[in-house]
Amino acid sequence: MGKPTGFIEYQRLAEASVPPAERLKHYKEFVLHLTDDEAKQQGARCMDCGIPFCMSGCPVNNIIPDWNDLVYRQNWKEALDVLHSTNNFPEFTGRVCPAPCEAACTLNINNDAVGIKSIEHAIIDKGWEQGWIVPQPPKKKTGKRVAIIGSGPAGMAAAQQLARAGHDAILFEKSDRIGGLLRYGIPDFKMEKSHIDRRLDQMRAEGVQFRTGQHIGVDTPASAILADFDAVILAGGAEQPRDLPVPGRELDGVHFAMEFLPQQNKVVAGDNVANQIMATGKHVVVIGGGDTGSDCVGTSNRHGAASVTQFELLPQPPEQENKPMVWPYWPVKLRTSSSHEEGCQRDWSVATKAFVGKNGKVEKLKAARVEWKDGRMQEVPGSEFEMKADLVLLAMGFTGPVQTGLLEQFGVEKDGRGNVKATTEGASSYHTSVSKVFSAGDMRRGQSLVVWAIREGRQCARAVDEFLMGASELPR
Ligand SMILES: Cc1cc2nc3c(=O)[nH]c(=O)nc-3n(C[C@H](O)[C@H](O)[C@H](O)COP(=O)(O)OP(=O)(O)OC[C@H]3O[C@@H](n4cnc5c(N)ncnc54)[C@H](O)[C@@H]3O)c2cc1C
Ligand code: SF4
Repeated sequence: MGKPTGFIEYQRLAEASVPPAERLKHYKEFVLHLTDDEAKQQGARCMDCGIPFCMSGCPVNNIIPDWNDLVYRQNWKEALDVLHSTNNFPEFTGRVCPAPCEAACTLNINNDAVGIKSIEHAIIDKGWEQGWIVPQPPKKKTGKRVAIIGSGPAGMAAAQQLARAGHDAILFEKSDRIGGLLRYGIPDFKMEKSHIDRRLDQMRAEGVQFRTGQHIGVDTPASAILADFDAVILAGGAEQPRDLPVPGRELDGVHFAMEFLPQQNKVVAGDNVANQIMATGKHVVVIGGGDTGSDCVGTSNRHGAASVTQFELLPQPPEQENKPMVWPYWPVKLRTSSSHEEGCQRDWSVATKAFVGKNGKVEKLKAARVEWKDGRMQEVPGSEFEMKADLVLLAMGFTGPVQTGLLEQFGVEKDGRGNVKATTEGASSYHTSVSKVFSAGDMRRGQSLVVWAIREGRQCARAVDEFLMGASELPR
């Protein structure tokens, strides 16, 4: 701890951001990283409390107190090395991670948590600005070939670790670009895609090979992959969206969020998207209150929607958590995203009952208020209401991985929720029921977070390395 009194002297400082009226005119990132002096002060707020709960709150177990101290001392290069020792892609997490580390910060018990995510953001941006991030090719090659299927953060992290361990890592992706939901789920205004491209250049120089436009289990059979590779990692994500099978679901204008969001990311990337789903001038209703719903709100507002409303089935959470009850765990509390700040009517305890339209196009929806008693939902009698809706976006989460094609052909066992069954501990960690086939990320754990996908990709790479070589020096 560089400054013993830092947490008393300095307040938590939020990163500066472009005001909503300005940032709504474009799809660029609008959060600016801390200046060196600001980061120094924020780093000084870390108490080095002795038992760093933040590190266990962070899924990749970032060594947070160490880099807080290094940033306080303005030793940025070493801070970057410590950060990279646990996280392949801090530029992703420094932008889109919800920061469970901060919920677990000891200072958070009776004060504002250390701004861990903002310090992470500052370190990694400094690293790229200074040209400190360079390829780390392996000293020698093993001659072993690993196929990684799915190029989201789990697949990318696994591929990078395996290439650094000397294996031929070949990353297969069914889409036209690498990145998974980082590329085609998360909007550019939260994370510009040049961050992915820059990492891909580094990974290419380290030996990772990319094969886009290859849908394994559909246009390339699993048998061909099994015959060609010494090990396989299934990292295809949890792509099956939860549907809302109510009357009128088939109407034009009712779409899954993941029909809407990727199109805009493609347009930002310079592609032509025929018949793009646009929110311009429309009354938009987003059903589902999570990250995906929030991204639909931000994108609709950038399109110039006439109004944006977001419904959530669950009751409105409290504005402030009961800290002694929940610390150091992730609390359920009201979270207002930057997209909400840009303009959105939010409504809780609402169940959508039907979509109504004319000439095949949605025009309104019917909904009712619900009450929750003992975990059960009941409709409030007489609470039905109608709302104008020209575009409805379904953002109610994902039920798990797509079951057909890939998983059918590899024949791996599933858990009770339809995810690929594999443990994360023990001698056979990340190994599926099929020999030499491993799994990581949302495909194994179900819908989750970027930081969990990175953790699983890293740990799975180590498990594969051990399987191939009998031992591994890769960190877990
Ligand atoms: C709209 C949206 C916003 C989100 N925002 C956030 C956020 O702000 N912060 C956060 O932490 N998390 C967020 N998440 C969650 C996060 O993106 C995921 O948890 C994470 O990307 C999972 O990583 P993954 O590598 O396991 O899978 P994915 O990122 O889903 O990548 C899987 C890849 O596998 C490919 N694939 C699937 N099957 C095959 C096949 N058979 N052959 C070839 N390729 C295949 C897919 O095309 C995809 O590219 C968001 C999710 C969504 C949908
Ligand atoms: S990756 Fe997420 S949880 Fe870990 S230190 Fe960064 S912001 Fe915190």
